[in-house]
Amino acid sequence: MAAVGKLEEQVGEVAASVEPGGSTQAVHAGTRRSKPFHSLNTPIIQTATYTFAKTQDLIDFMHDKTWGSGSEREEYGRYGNPTVDSVESKLAALDHGEDALIYASGMNAITSVLLSVLPAGAHIIMTDDCYRRTRQFCQTFLKRFGIETSIVPMGDYEALENAIIPKKTRFIISESPTNPYLRVADLERIAALGRKYRVRTLIDSTFATPINQRPLDWGIDFVLHSATKYLSGHNDLLAGVIVGKADRMAALRDARGILGGMVDPQNAFLLERGIKTLGVRVRQHNQTAQALAEFLEGHPRIDRVWYPGLPSHPDHAIAKAQMQGYGGVVSFEVDGDMETTIKFVDSLQIPYIAASLGGVESLVEQPAIMSYFDKTSEERLEMGIKDGLVRYAVGIEDADDLIKDLDQALAKI
Ligand SMILES: *Cc1c(COP(=O)(O)O)cnc(C)c1O
Repeated sequence: MAAVGKLEEQVGEVAASVEPGGSTQAVHAGTRRSKPFHSLNTPIIQTATYTFAKTQDLIDFMHDKTWGSGSEREEYGRYGNPTVDSVESKLAALDHGEDALIYASGMNAITSVLLSVLPAGAHIIMTDDCYRRTRQFCQTFLKRFGIETSIVPMGDYEALENAIIPKKTRFIISESPTNPYLRVADLERIAALGRKYRVRTLIDSTFATPINQRPLDWGIDFVLHSATKYLSGHNDLLAGVIVGKADRMAALRDARGILGGMVDPQNAFLLERGIKTLGVRVRQHNQTAQALAEFLEGHPRIDRVWYPGLPSHPDHAIAKAQMQGYGGVVSFEVDGDMETTIKFVDSLQIPYIAASLGGVESLVEQPAIMSYFDKTSEERLEMGIKDGLVRYAVGIEDADDLIKDLDQALAKI
């Protein structure tokens, strides 16, 4: 894997145990200090294939072919790309993993890891309150291959342990924090269950980012992000990433070459550019979301606020112990029906009404209308989604402006 270069050497001289902080890693990790043409930035190697000067070079390459980070050269664009490699090294360092793989989207990452690893007839366990498409993939696509999925309530570790079928269960998957209720999983506990029953564990850490949470440090096997969100940070690309131990990632790297979920070099460049500002952006998101959550919790037209940074959140204690910040998403229930909530959302002037999160612009949505539109009010209630529920993903605008905007919109209902 490409080293942090001079920075790592310098830090190494100070003390072997001192590691650069997340912001320093976001800027420097994975980036070679010297690049072609003395370019400061990682060049975009926009090529589908790579050439060999003579057949003997190809024969030599075939003899000791190593794919991926740190390899001397590449054979074909689906197997590797230097621009992509550079971002993978950065992401591996940020999440305290040994290797990272970038995919064409977050969903591509999650479907690829499961398709790559699961044998026929396997069983997997997922916690509820998770990204809807992930659940859909497990319950419909994987089912066709005889792979069964058990869904257990988030935060119920007894139910989780009871759902494990020895020798059959291969994966425990959870998001943390979850969408839309920002539930936070006890990562150490999940990792311990994984070790006890020899089940791999995967945490979708999209809402946290490596600045706020590092699941691998708690013993989790794989961490996954939709890089579309905070990592890229500008709502301008789709990408996904998986980070883990090198020996586990090797099989995934081979599988990506077959499944074909390689990210485009241009997107990899934009992702690296986004990651460089991850530290400052996430700290701002944390601070602003906390301010919004506190404002909303004190407002008479708001029934309930879900934010792990509030002591009223069911997982506040575990979030406090496990995370460096609580993230940029605040969910809340407006005191009123669907129509009232629509009026409130439409009265907001700063956030855009849009799916997604993690960019510099604030985005707002009603889960009942965005993700669960095809369900009836009753079906949604059964799934725990109230009509008055709003998910607000803060951008990096001034917190005071966002609060004033919320205040005027709430005054209209
Ligand atoms: C958006 C999202 C995904 C899917 O990622 P894409 O990049 O849109 O494919 C998966 N998990 C979570 C938590 C997400 O927010």
